[in-house]
Amino acid sequence: MRNFVYTSHPSRIVFGTGTVGQVREEVERLGCFRVLLLSTPSVAKAAARVRDVLGDVIVAEFDGATMHTPVDVTERALDVLREHSADCLVAVGGGSTTGLAKALALRTDLPQLILPTTYAGSEVTPVLGETQDGRKNTVASPAILPETVVYDVEFTLGLPVGLSVTSAVNAMAHAVEALYAPQANPVIDAMALDAIALSARALPALVAEPSDTEARADLLRAAWLAGTCLGSVGMGLHHKLCHTLGGAFDLAHAATHTVILPHAMAYNAPAARYAMTRIAGALGVPDAPSGMFDLITSLGGPTSLRELGMAEADLPQAARLAVATPYPNPRELTAGGIESLLGDAWQGRRPT
Ligand code: NAD
Repeated sequence: MRNFVYTSHPSRIVFGTGTVGQVREEVERLGCFRVLLLSTPSVAKAAARVRDVLGDVIVAEFDGATMHTPVDVTERALDVLREHSADCLVAVGGGSTTGLAKALALRTDLPQLILPTTYAGSEVTPVLGETQDGRKNTVASPAILPETVVYDVEFTLGLPVGLSVTSAVNAMAHAVEALYAPQANPVIDAMALDAIALSARALPALVAEPSDTEARADLLRAAWLAGTCLGSVGMGLHHKLCHTLGGAFDLAHAATHTVILPHAMAYNAPAARYAMTRIAGALGVPDAPSGMFDLITSLGGPTSLRELGMAEADLPQAARLAVATPYPNPRELTAGGIESLLGDAWQGRRPT
């Protein structure tokens, strides 16, 4: 028997296809009448759909959300928000646009409604990573947690296959690490296993047919479940490594998660045997780390840090940074062990 504490985060989830049609009533439900719409040019079609539904409730727009939530971008959006006296934030986009909404909510306590277009899962966590002077700091607060999330499967149909794969593996990583987190509990375990099983089943179908709505729906549901895991329990080695690599070497967020995940699992496997057995079961393979690697390879990767543009000479520094501050992880972290993990990830070796 293990002891546990479970705290749920109060978010309202609206899930389905065509759910964008409910956005105006969801904004009214929040008691709001003056929306600032946040987006990026790459989701212009989805933003136009939201604009149609919200009509004159939109008082201002900002389409400059960027990766890693730089504070200067947040300050520019804050000026727009204040100039138009917005009373609500509606964000349509991936984790970067959600990050901007969260950064604004942290500074104003305004309610947020998020329409995700990737599988990052940030929309259901009370956590924000923002960048200033080249450093990414993580903040957690109830004000950061979005009040309402409207998942519309149609908004993910245009996500290119490569980004869909890496984004969905990013979601699987939240679920994998939740299963060996110190705060693990039965509710989060069930969500994590469902997220892994749904993703393992849907990803091959999506790669075969990118407009497969059922596969897209399964991946979006998995993203919600996995994001809920991320927001509820602490993450370990895998997330710390990806955070370090992304911040220090400017590697793409979801692609880095995709390369590192099988190797972080292999590193932790000897100290997290029960979790690995359950993950293998959800993946439908005999061994979790090599099974995850084979799944990613079959989806077209990426499988190596080399192909993401990282220099081999940077591996020792990455290993030192990754073990510089201690954090909970099933297996003890050593600079040598992490350097060997990173060497395997750089080469793209299959874990054995
Ligand atoms: P992203 O939001 O940066 O999107 C990646 C690219 O895809 C962008 O160019 C974006 O404009 C484009 N895009 C998004 N949706 C699209 C669509 N449907 N069709 C076509 N193009 C589309 O990437 P992401 O992986 O979703 O998010 C990464 C960011 O989110 C990172 O900064 C990461 O730290 C953060 N994040 C935070 C949390 C948290 O809980 N705080 C969780 C996960 C990720």
